[in-house]
This record gives sequence, C-alpha cells and structure tokens, in this order.
Amino acid sequence: MRDLSDILSANLETEEIEMLYDFDPKMPTNLIGDSMRLRQVLLNLAGNALKFTEQGEVLLSTRVIRQDEQTLEVEFAVTDTGIGIPSDQLEHIFFNFKQAESSTSRRFGGSGLGLAICKELVELMGGTLQVESELGKGSRFFFTLHMQCVSTFKRMTPLPQMRALVVDDNALAREILQKMVRSIGLECDCASNGQQALQMLQQTDTPAYQLVLVDRIMPGLDGLETTRRIRHLFGTQQDAPAVIMVTAQQELGMDPKEGNGVCDTHLVKPITAGMLSDAITTATSASSECSTRKSMLQGTQRLLGLHLLVIEDNLLNQQVAKELLHKNGATVTIASNGVEGKMRALAAIVPFDAILMDMQMPGIDGLEATRQIRKHPRMHSVPIIALTANAMSADHEACIAVGMVDHISKPIGLEQLLTTIERHTKVSQLKAETSLIEQTAKSATTVIDAAQAIESLGGGRDLYITLLQIFRTDSLIQLQGIKGALLQGEIKATQLHLHTLRGMAGTMGAIALQKIMAQIEIELKLATIIPPSTEEKLLLYNLAETSLNETLDQYDLEFPLEGMS
Ligand code: ADP
Repeated sequence: MRDLSDILSANLETEEIEMLYDFDPKMPTNLIGDSMRLRQVLLNLAGNALKFTEQGEVLLSTRVIRQDEQTLEVEFAVTDTGIGIPSDQLEHIFFNFKQAESSTSRRFGGSGLGLAICKELVELMGGTLQVESELGKGSRFFFTLHMQCVSTFKRMTPLPQMRALVVDDNALAREILQKMVRSIGLECDCASNGQQALQMLQQTDTPAYQLVLVDRIMPGLDGLETTRRIRHLFGTQQDAPAVIMVTAQQELGMDPKEGNGVCDTHLVKPITAGMLSDAITTATSASSECSTRKSMLQGTQRLLGLHLLVIEDNLLNQQVAKELLHKNGATVTIASNGVEGKMRALAAIVPFDAILMDMQMPGIDGLEATRQIRKHPRMHSVPIIALTANAMSADHEACIAVGMVDHISKPIGLEQLLTTIERHTKVSQLKAETSLIEQTAKSATTVIDAAQAIESLGGGRDLYITLLQIFRTDSLIQLQGIKGALLQGEIKATQLHLHTLRGMAGTMGAIALQKIMAQIEIELKLATIIPPSTEEKLLLYNLAETSLNETLDQYDLEFPLEGMS
C-alpha cells in the first residue's frame, strides 16, 4: 500500500482530486498473497480512477468481511467520483479490449487492455473483479480475496484514555480518520476547518482534548497556521494538546520538515491503525525529543509562534535562514524571487509577522518588491527587514526610504537574526500571554457581521438564512466569473463580477470580503491603463478566492448547514 501510494501520488497532477485511503483497522499486519499482482491490479484500477476523475475523490479501501484464526476474507475497492461508465458498456468493459467509448480514447488515450488483465489476475487470485457505475457520478471497482493470515496477533502499544479532535476540510477524509482514531480506543470529534477547531478547543463546558490531528492543506487557516494558533492559545499550560500534522504524500515535496518546530509529529497518508497508534505515542510521550511543548516550557524558542516570509533567491541563504528560524520556533514561508514574494505577502490571510527581504535578486529587486508590497493598505505595518551583503549607510538609507524597518547583514548570523526580528515583532510581548486569543477572536468576528446585516434587512433572520443559501452558491459562480474574465484579460467583465460580488458581500455583512473586493476593483482601474501580467492577475484572483473561502468558512461556522457535522 505504501508503494502504491508512492506511485499514485507521483501521478496526481491536479489539486482538484484528493487521493484517499481507508484501511480497515481490523486488517492484520501480515497476510499471505501475491503482493506484486495485487499491487498491479490496484494500481491499474486507481490509475484509471484518477484518469477519469476531474474533481472529487478517489478512494482506495480495504474491508474485512470475515475473519477466523487462519483466514481472512477481505474486499478491496477503488471508488471514484469521476465521469462514470454508461450502463450498456458495463458488461463489456472487462472483455472487448476496447474502450467504453471511442471518444474516450481520443480524450484520454490508452489501449483498453488494462481491465481485461486485471480481471484475469483477480480470478487467478481466487476472486471476481466487479464494477458498479453511474454516469456522471463515478465508479466503484471491487473484488474479494481469501487470504491466509501469518499471525492475527497484532502488537499495539496500549494508549491512555484520550479525547482527540480531527481537523480536515474534506468530509470523507475526516470520517476515515475519525473512524480509525475510534478503532484504537480514543474518543474523537471532528472540525471542518481551523477556526472551528480553535473554537472547539476553547470550549470550557466540554471535556478537554489531549490530541489534535490536523490536515496540512486546508483553505482558510492551513494546518501550520492552525497549529501555531493552538500553541498560542495554550501557551505553556500543562494541558496543551499534542498536535499531529497529517500530510498527503504529494505534499511532501513542499518540505516534509516544515512545521517540525510547531507540531509534535507527522503522519503521512495512507495511514494504518498501527501508524496512528505509534504517532500518538510519539506525540504524547513526555520524553519526546520533538515535543514543542517541552521546549516551550524550557523557553528556548525565541521566535515561537511567528510566521515569517523569507524572500531570497539564493538557495543556500534560504536554507540557512529557514534552519535558524525553524529551530527557534518560527513558521517559515520561502519565496524565491520578488514577484513570488509579493504574491505570498499579499495572499496571506493573516499577514506575516515579518518579511525578510533579500536586496539583490533577478527580476524585481528587494527595493522594488518592498515598494510594491507597501502600496497595499493591508501591508503598511508589516515589518520588512532587508537581508543585505553590504552594510553601507547609503544602502541602509535606500532601504528605509522604501519602507523597510531594519537590515540584517550577510552572512546571516544567529544572534543578529533573532534580535532584529524580536525587535520588530514584539515577540516578547506576544509571549507574555496577551495575544492571539484576542487576535483570533477579533479576526473571527470581523470576517462577517451577520447581526448588522440582519438589522439592515429589517430584522429578518429567516430572510437572511434564505439569502445565505443563495450566497453560498452564487458567490462561487461570481468567483468563477472573475477567474475566467481576469485570465482572459477581459477587465470590464472582471469588474462587473467583482462589483456584483462586492454588492452581495455588502448585503450579507461579509465585511472582509467586501473590503477585499473594493481593493481589487481599485487595482483593476489601473489595469485598464497598464495591462496586468499573468502573475498579477493570479495574485488578484488568489486574493479574491482566499477571502471568499474564509468568508464561507465563517458562515459555515456561524450558520451551519443542516446535516453538516
Ligand atoms: P485503458 O488502458 O485504455 O485505460 P482499461 O481496460 O483500463 O484500458 O479501461 C477500459 C476503459 O474503461 C477505459 O478506456 C474507460 O473508457 C473505461 N474506464 C475504466 N475505468 C474507468 C473509471 N474509473 N471511470 C470511467 N471509465 C473507466
């Protein structure tokens, strides 16, 4: 399964699809079977599923159907939410060595031999490959095999009684992990985003959580940011929960160690019950080397909780900065040039605590990047610190002139780095317990002001809820409109969509969104004179999307949809 996920994740090209694994916790660790052929079949089925799914999920699952001392009956299934297969083709699909539709072959390529071979292999292993499918909804390929157990005895470290919170934006992924956490004997609740998790952790009328399993990539607050806020919420309290970061394999390229200073340990999907149990032991053991809480108690991490952006083109310097900052508890985002740096700075929902800016870079240099970042009202107060090779006073003046607050000279030394950052981020004050609880509460309330909007509607809460249903879908349609028009360079059409979305936001009391829309509209006025570059277009779109996501998340929290967990 691990091999399989290595290969599959390398084939996952789009972020629109989530590759999920759901392994029955009752599966013993060792089984006798033809692992190579089994892998070949599952790889083929999952490969097809990914190929014919544009959006949604591909789920690879195992389910124990029957089990005794020596044998196990287990169902393997690959389920997708893809294009599906027409019912009149279903019976032929394993046989005629041709593709379900000739048009498919033009669109997707392929020989049409894969399924025939799979069917044969499954039969040789003693099962029958079957398929269920609905056009436009998706397909499910499955088969059951009888296998011999080597040993049904599974050694698992007994875990103490604990209450866990699973945080994931994908409903199915959430459910799978919750089921697994419960199967190893823990109580488990779920949150569908970072904000909700933070609120649940703060509730005082329910038993506390000792463990949080947080998905790495989520819209709004991502896994790192959520963890960072959890750390601030609990400070050095003894009852701070342990945090395990859950990462999908394909995200590892981003930097597997990122966030190491923040969370207690990582889990890489696909997750088995054994892996989960081990990770929990690691994360909660007091002796754990990587226990952030431990180092917090010792007060060694001087930048704990800070989120820093480093804009630097030189790989070596990137590495040095990152290492030193990580070690001291900061979360670090790297941008390799001025344009990317500007995009990352502006796209961050919670502004960075500080930006470290290299001066000499190809393309736009540090001075120009700073100038462009400072143009945006949200970016007026973010401390931007120059990373400079020559500490000539002329340079220093140029830095100050464009709005930088200080400089650090290269080669980067630890003490200078830390004190300069501390000086401008008031990290000591942050540490002194004030801080993020208030900040979180504040940012949570300023995203939307529903009470105000309801009042403007003449107090009609029911009306508001009805409008909200419409807003939930129409806002996304407008966002699509913005994307399409913007990328095509149709500025007028973009403005129209922006304007509509801004109006809708106004009605709904979506204050933050309204502001961002207005800001983008202003930017676009300029665009009618100087056409924006692709990067700038993407940046603007990113801003719109991030803000809308955050808004919708907040609505989901305050006005949960019926039937939502
Ligand atoms: P190929 O090598 O062409 O992919 P397969 O035998 O694996 O051949 O698949 C045969 C055909 O069955 C595919 O071309 C496609 O039309 C259909 N098919 C297979 N899997 C799926 C799926 N998960 N969803 C939709 N169609 C599928």
